[in-house]
Amino acid sequence: MAESKRDYYEVLGIPRTATEDEIKRAYRKLAKKYHPDVNPGDKDAEAKFKEASEAYAVLIDPEKKAKYDQFGHAAFDGTGGVSYDYNSADFSDIFSDLFGDLFGGGGFGGFGGFGGTRTRTRGGPVQGANTRARIRITFKEAITGCEKELELNLKEACPECGGSGAKKGTSPVTCTQCGGSGQITMTQQTIFGMSQTVRACPTCSGTGRVIKDKCPKCSGSGYVSRRQKVQVSVPAGIDDGQSIRIRGKGEPGANGGPFGDLLVEVRVAEDPVFAREDTDIFSAVNISYAQAALGDTIRIPTVDGEVEYELKPGTQPGTRIRLRGKGVPYLRQNNVRGDHYVTFLVRVPEKMNREQKEALLAFDAAMGGGLSGGDGPGPKKKKNIFR
Ligand SMILES: [Zn+2]
Ligand SMILES: [Zn+2]
Repeated sequence: MAESKRDYYEVLGIPRTATEDEIKRAYRKLAKKYHPDVNPGDKDAEAKFKEASEAYAVLIDPEKKAKYDQFGHAAFDGTGGVSYDYNSADFSDIFSDLFGDLFGGGGFGGFGGFGGTRTRTRGGPVQGANTRARIRITFKEAITGCEKELELNLKEACPECGGSGAKKGTSPVTCTQCGGSGQITMTQQTIFGMSQTVRACPTCSGTGRVIKDKCPKCSGSGYVSRRQKVQVSVPAGIDDGQSIRIRGKGEPGANGGPFGDLLVEVRVAEDPVFAREDTDIFSAVNISYAQAALGDTIRIPTVDGEVEYELKPGTQPGTRIRLRGKGVPYLRQNNVRGDHYVTFLVRVPEKMNREQKEALLAFDAAMGGGLSGGDGPGPKKKKNIFR
């Protein structure tokens, strides 16, 4: 006579008409409450969890549910014990929901059988992590390119053990726990039966080798830190915030993997004269009213030094001209350069002496200007400008 079991619907607290969604929701609630990982050592919770899981495994499977609805527990008796195929039931999404939050998606060790066996394979060679540094250069250095020297603490293979981490005269030995494979298979008795999990060997951390006598210089890590000078070739055309990769100057790799890279971020200082946008340079040049009106040969500062420019008579304030090829070199094509745009600003004198004022008034009069009572836009009543 089978021991009396609670009705599966009662266990999950749902009506017989419950939909698949309702079954899932009910089970999720119970699993969250009674899961052994949340109630370590609590036998009562474990029993409840097992009971709910059993009910769920049957009711979520349409075929089993149909049998259960027709015959009750008798449908599954006479098989020499309970034989619910938990692994075929759809637990995975429930547990990933549940424990993705609860345990940060980490181990869910005791129930490896649910969502497929979790396998952490042996660590092959892994490149070391990249490290970062920063240099500051001037605006002009960014245009021309430059050589900089950085002084950093860098890890390098231990000179004592040559990177093996083992004391001089010894060498790492094959790990006895995993036989050198770096992984172990754990067979666990879970409440749902046997479950096999492959994990990285804890003794050798998946490397398959164990250092018996550690190198005293590097404490077995195989690496030492040393203050080193690193040459950084900054290419012409680099822009603020871009990085230069220096291969092999990052962190050491694992399991014989290569070093990571050093990424040097370049910060470009602002310039008082020149502004930059991609490969173009922008600046402003002050000219006088007379220069603007009459034209002149002027000198314009560029990143290559001053260039002569023929200012046209009648140049208006705000006129922008382009000096072709005087911009920033293209990073990957240094013989091609952007342009330099120059905006002319017309300087208005802030202070003038009597002579200058008279000259300007005379000029204004000659132009028929408003200041001298002409038909310009100014006041018709003569203003005393010689105060
Ligand atoms: Zn060493
Ligand atoms: Zn091992």
